[in-house]
Amino acid sequence: MKTVLITGSSRGIGLGLVKEYVKNGYKVVATCRDPETASDLKSTLAETNQPSAIALDVASDDSIFKAAEEVSKIVDSIDILINNAGVAAKNHPNDPAIGVDREDALRVYSTNVIGPLKVTEAFLPLLRKGNEKKVVNISSSSGSIAGATPSFVITTYCASKAALNMVTRYQAFELKDLIVVAIEPGWVNTDMGRSDCLGTPPLSISGAGRKLLRTISNLKESDSSWFLSINGDRYSF
Ligand code: NDP
Repeated sequence: MKTVLITGSSRGIGLGLVKEYVKNGYKVVATCRDPETASDLKSTLAETNQPSAIALDVASDDSIFKAAEEVSKIVDSIDILINNAGVAAKNHPNDPAIGVDREDALRVYSTNVIGPLKVTEAFLPLLRKGNEKKVVNISSSSGSIAGATPSFVITTYCASKAALNMVTRYQAFELKDLIVVAIEPGWVNTDMGRSDCLGTPPLSISGAGRKLLRTISNLKESDSSWFLSINGDRYSF
């Protein structure tokens, strides 16, 4: 049985991924900041005989390494790590470059950029024991510098996802035995997706989960270090 570990599983795309991987016969190690209050996640895991969710705050190294210790007690290996947890700036989606709040930007970078770096580091021993050896960093089309437009001013969040794309490259250069990619999940109907105030996101959580699972299953060595669309095509940096 293949094992997948997902961060930020309490709601949104992370919870959608949990449900999709459970449906497809994987062992799912679901992690989130506060497993006690994540009621939908809790019932999904209990009803499908999956391990209980593990507490993991991607903005805290203590929490990340403690979670890695806990996880190593319940599984021998991890095939796929999905760094999904992410946050937007407090004034998202109106976040001009002039006037960025330093503390808030640090919170966003700590979660969206340093989080995936440290989570990957902490789970590397288990990933190296897995067969698939895949790390997926959930990025965003708004992290494409080529695609930046003056009509979409979300400085902090977009910069954090552009940085995540670069982080993905360097992880891939260093972790040559793994496939490391950044994937943009499309515009999905989640709390964050709806906060863009641009209308209703076209993609459902379950639809995004299905497409992501398929693309992640089809990843090959030559994809490593690239920024991909939800369908697996190369996306413009
Ligand atoms: P949501 O806001 O719906 O969910 C975010 C998830 O991340 C929650 O489970 C939240 O947990 C978790 N999270 C936030 N901070 C932390 C942390 N420090 N440690 C652990 N978990 C944390 O967002 P989405 O589901 O939409 O987003 C998931 C990913 O997809 C993000 O990386 C986002 O940037 C990306 N994305 C989303 C798009 C969309 O259209 N929705 C488009 C492009 C990219 P908690 O419940 O504890 O707050």
